Amino acid sequence: MIEVNDLHKRFGDTEVLKGIDCTIQPSEVICVIGPSGSGKSTFLRCLNMLEPITSGEVIVDGYHINDPKTDINMVRTEVGMVFQQFNLFPHKKVIENLMLAPQKVRKLSNLEARARCLKLLEKVGLADKADQYPQQLSGGQQQRVAIARALAMEPKMMLFDEPTSALDPELVGEVLAVMKQLANEGMTMFVVTHEMGFAREVGDRVLFMDEGVIVEEGVPDQLFSNPQSERTQEFLNKIL
Ligand code: ADP
Ligand code: MG
Repeated sequence: MIEVNDLHKRFGDTEVLKGIDCTIQPSEVICVIGPSGSGKSTFLRCLNMLEPITSGEVIVDGYHINDPKTDINMVRTEVGMVFQQFNLFPHKKVIENLMLAPQKVRKLSNLEARARCLKLLEKVGLADKADQYPQQLSGGQQQRVAIARALAMEPKMMLFDEPTSALDPELVGEVLAVMKQLANEGMTMFVVTHEMGFAREVGDRVLFMDEGVIVEEGVPDQLFSNPQSERTQEFLNKIL
């Protein structure tokens, strides 16, 4: 689903990604962990061309995203994104937030879009909030709306950048539960997270990043219980 070969990314003189290689299979759930500033968000943003890459290769569902001939908007419709900040449109109702892209991009009729989006709100447990405005919802509910909004485009994969980091602790679980359900349904997921419990339980593979490289990767049990690299051990000792 995603193939990354020797990805480098610079901002000016600073090399933030120093040669990343990674392959993600359909239905795989990859969790990315690592200290702040290690390049996790930059890596995720390179997968969707939110950041132009400096060198290397990123192939998403067969599209070479750094090839000028690739229709990047087309690729983006296949990749749902959820960020730490929910970025919902505050002046639109919940259901309108969901319906916008399917109508504009997928050209669904109002009726079709509404039906699809109501189903998605049901899926994330928020059918009764369709006609409310984002500010009337808790942070956890808003993030579930953001997930439903991404799903409304029927993406082939979902990228999450610390989706629960801005939430009060008691609201984290409801968002992780929705993500876990998605994973169980076979969604391909790339999740930058500090939630080690989630990574361990739901991740098929965990990548540990530090200073712009993938230092270590493995199945969660192995990486968490028996990390091979000293840098991974140090990081885990600090947070666990
Ligand atoms: P993480 O998500 O792991 O915390 P980031 O990918 O956000 O790390 O950042 C990695 C490094 O890249 C940091 O040192 C950050 O300051 C730098 N960086 C990120 N975005 C930019 C930018 N737009 N311009 C300059 N430097 C950036
Ligand atoms: Mg980040």
